[in-house]
Amino acid sequence: NLTQRLAKVVKTMRGEARLTEANTAEMLREVRLALLEADVALPAVREFIARVKEKAMGEEVIGSLTPGQALVGVVQAELAAIMGADLGPEASQLNFATQPPAIILMAGLQGAGKTTTVGKLAKYLREKKKKVLTVSTDVYRPAAIGQLQTVTAQAGADFFPSQATDKPVAIAQAALDYAKRHFHDVLIIDTAGRLGIDEAMMQEISALHAAVKPIETLFVVDAMLGQDAINTAKAFNDALPLTGVVLTKLDGDSRGGAALSVRHITGKPIKFAGVAEKLDGLEAFDPQRMANRILGMGDILALVEEARKGVDVEAAQDLAHKIKGGGKFDLNDFKAQIGQMKKMGGLSSLMDKLPAQLQQAASGANMDQADKQVRRMEGIINSMTPQERAKPELIKASRKRRIAAGAGVQVQEVNRMLSQFEQMQAMMKKLKGGGMMKMMRGMKG
Ligand code: GDP
Ligand code: MG
Repeated sequence: NLTQRLAKVVKTMRGEARLTEANTAEMLREVRLALLEADVALPAVREFIARVKEKAMGEEVIGSLTPGQALVGVVQAELAAIMGADLGPEASQLNFATQPPAIILMAGLQGAGKTTTVGKLAKYLREKKKKVLTVSTDVYRPAAIGQLQTVTAQAGADFFPSQATDKPVAIAQAALDYAKRHFHDVLIIDTAGRLGIDEAMMQEISALHAAVKPIETLFVVDAMLGQDAINTAKAFNDALPLTGVVLTKLDGDSRGGAALSVRHITGKPIKFAGVAEKLDGLEAFDPQRMANRILGMGDILALVEEARKGVDVEAAQDLAHKIKGGGKFDLNDFKAQIGQMKKMGGLSSLMDKLPAQLQQAASGANMDQADKQVRRMEGIINSMTPQERAKPELIKASRKRRIAAGAGVQVQEVNRMLSQFEQMQAMMKKLKGGGMMKMMRGMKG
């Protein structure tokens, strides 16, 4: 029946069945730009694009998707996987599999959010009924020790006071000794950080690590750091056996590209996200959400829109107008419509807006056959004069013979095409102002 035939056309127009270098090149360029805009460092972008390519090539384009949209799906899934979705939910858990106290060492640049995060972790662990002790080895900034004392009190944890005149290793060892004697479950060691990476600071934190052998060494990094995150992550990853990452200041307006850079360099799970200055502003890291944020939902839509490029908006609106106004829908319009459908490369947008009935009919259609059918229909229409297209009723026997000869088909096929068109016209009238109108609006994107 007509519905099925139409559905077949729609299915054929959807374009290519598999992802290839050619039909994804443009979309991959857009993804690359989106990542760079999100401040992902270039080496991480390159690696990611290569991974996506490897995953995507040869993939079947399923259902009503265009190759571009299918690729966006691969990009999202792959980004989420890299963010840690494939590590499982345990990846964001802290490790306590040790003789207490479990020691957590905080590493990162000054201003990254280490001290704040110690307070947040202390609060989080207190809620889990852990006995927590904190200590600051930031002997360069007395105010930093006071800051830790304040947040520790707010968290309801214990604070080990340190003398700014002592050496960081000695302070940490004294705190560990105290924690053991007072049966603390967890000891969190806050450290100093410089504004930039510096050799002395790296040596100091390495020495701290060697002295207390923490079960968790968390690299705290500011999501707003952008491109620089990659160098910072590299320096800390080289100096310390990191066990995880805390990405802070995600409440800011950064897209969080730093997350991808840091994963690229360290391969370590991002365990927590800082989402506020307050102590309750700590969340388990959510890989899927991060992937969406990095890509930017708005940008994904833009990417999909990009895939529909080449659609002649004016012609689509014109056609929509005709239908809405009850204007005559002739074979010129039909020809234009077929041309547009082809230009869209994929009909997904149109497809999505088709009545459910049509979509259903399309799902089982034979692609090859439908493809041939559309080409033949197009051939027939092309063999008509503009006047014939405007007034199909002009097409009588002799014209039919001429058209059939021009298109290289039998006269019966011209007849069939014309009666199909008549049915379509009738359907268009029924749909006017309704489904079809929405469908056309969908086309202009
Ligand atoms: P440190 O030098 O690494 O110890 O960094 P601090 O913990 O002192 O934090 C530096 C600044 O960042 C402070 O003003 C914090 O309040 C702020 N900060 C830390 N984490 C977050 C966060 O997740 N969100 C927001 N908005 N601010 C944060
Ligand atoms: Mg600090």
